Amino acid sequence: MDYFSIMVVDDEVDFLETLVKRLQKRNIDTVGVTSGEEALKILGEKRIDVVILDVKMPGGIDGIETLREIKRHQPLTEVILLTGHGSVETSIDGMKMGAFDYLLKPIKLEELMIKLSEAFEKKDLQEQKIRKARIKELVRFPGRVFQQEKE
Ligand SMILES: [Mg+2]
Repeated sequence: MDYFSIMVVDDEVDFLETLVKRLQKRNIDTVGVTSGEEALKILGEKRIDVVILDVKMPGGIDGIETLREIKRHQPLTEVILLTGHGSVETSIDGMKMGAFDYLLKPIKLEELMIKLSEAFEKKDLQEQKIRKARIKELVRFPGRVFQQEKE
């Protein structure tokens, strides 16, 4: 699954490092960061297909705020929220804001892998649709598409 890239965002360093290692062991291109600010910085620099995002993070911008920014700038990037028992409501709000799904901590790796593959599949389909629409546009209005590409 080297073709896909994941970012894990969680302020609990031990949890973060363990999860990143386990995903890398499965040959998934994975990067880990401990804050929303770092996450948004990485998103501006690197293609990320799916973000695994902790809802509860101290200081700066929290998980929900990070989700909002991700969806504003990169709507095709899918987000899976990680939530504790105390923050399920927040995750449900997150789903309304475009999160793909949420998982309760402590997470089961197999469960996460299933959600990840579903999220990848959704993103892939969306991208295919956009590509097809662009091809149609190219056939109908070649000049216009050319103009857009040049900008
Ligand atoms: Mg946390």
